[in-house]
Amino acid sequence: MTSHDLLDRTDDALARAVEVYTHLHTHPELSSHEHETAAFIEGELDAIGIEHFRCGGTGVVGILRSGSGPTVAFRADTDGLPIAENTGLPYASTTTGTLPNGDTAPVMHGCGHDTHVAALLTTARILAASPDTWSGTVVLIFQPGEETAWGAKEMVSDGLWDRAPHPDVVLAQHVMPLPAGHLSLRPGPMAALADSWRITLRGRQAHGSQPENSIDPIVLGASIVLRLQTIVSRELGPRTPAVVTVGTFHAGLKENIIPDSAEISVNVRTPDEETRDQVLGAIRRIVSAETAASAAPEPTIEEINAFPRLVNDTARTEQISAAFTRAFGSERVESAPLGMGSEDAGWLGDSIGVPTVFWGFGAFDDALFADGAMPAGNHSPEFAPDPTHAMRTGVSAALTAILAALDGTAEAHD
Ligand SMILES: [Zn+2]
Ligand SMILES: [Zn+2]
Repeated sequence: MTSHDLLDRTDDALARAVEVYTHLHTHPELSSHEHETAAFIEGELDAIGIEHFRCGGTGVVGILRSGSGPTVAFRADTDGLPIAENTGLPYASTTTGTLPNGDTAPVMHGCGHDTHVAALLTTARILAASPDTWSGTVVLIFQPGEETAWGAKEMVSDGLWDRAPHPDVVLAQHVMPLPAGHLSLRPGPMAALADSWRITLRGRQAHGSQPENSIDPIVLGASIVLRLQTIVSRELGPRTPAVVTVGTFHAGLKENIIPDSAEISVNVRTPDEETRDQVLGAIRRIVSAETAASAAPEPTIEEINAFPRLVNDTARTEQISAAFTRAFGSERVESAPLGMGSEDAGWLGDSIGVPTVFWGFGAFDDALFADGAMPAGNHSPEFAPDPTHAMRTGVSAALTAILAALDGTAEAHD
């Protein structure tokens, strides 16, 4: 029995999946505020008859068993983004949420995490309805706070793996601007490590006409911003992909006052831990040396967030990729490019030394790709996966990967 057969033979699975998806899409919540989403997931798991527990605040973990066999964990992230949705869809979000600084912001499932949740709930519904077709344990991880790199760490530190059985592999998928039925994955790094820092520079305030009485944090900051750009261009080899972006620079209130401080925030993307250590070390060195050059007081450096590595296990990725090729056809299984996007899913497996396989799936009509065109991508206010395509591809891919991982482990243990 293939995943497509399972999907089609399970009564109303696709129709219910689309209902769940559009409900979630209309009701997005910001990172670590996923209270209604968590309650909705718990209600669905109760309706299917799957035991579950809370973990990491708004995280929900379901455990589905069918006899003995391997254990496979599958993660779906649950959070939305502060974006004003502009899709014009009848089920578009008009919701607002509260940002960490207290501001009210529009909220949208602009990264498509609603497709992940709906696909995993539907996959669970189908597996629960067909216990004769598989054997083992599936751990369903509904993870909050992906967009802030907070959720996976929080679930692990809240005892995820003390309470759920340790899996043989952790699987996860992400909707991408790809045609429906297409899947994208690669062995090795699937996403970049990302680090965000807030750097507060200190100076000495003085009248704008008396620079001799000041230590000017704006001049200091300007030197730092320029010098940081030499890390990638002058310290890394030309084949090492990395990004250092200064995204904010705030200082001063009036043109004739040299202020006493300046604040910059930096976002860093690196392909591996070695490069990460090198770049972050260079940032500390440059900030410290420029501070000394200005004879300024020591600055403070605070971490805003840190996305861990996301590395696909080679053997496991080959196993799942082969299953995708059988189920979807080789022309629809693409080798993923290494982008500079980031994901915290890798920490779920890395924290207990278990392999990870993460892939992208398509959810858009073929026509949107005609003549080299592309639909709006993740984080765009126009991002609009097709509900039926998203559910067909997302659920089929999840089922295919879970069944392959359950079978493959069993074979490996024979
Ligand atoms: Zn995102
Ligand atoms: Zn995302």
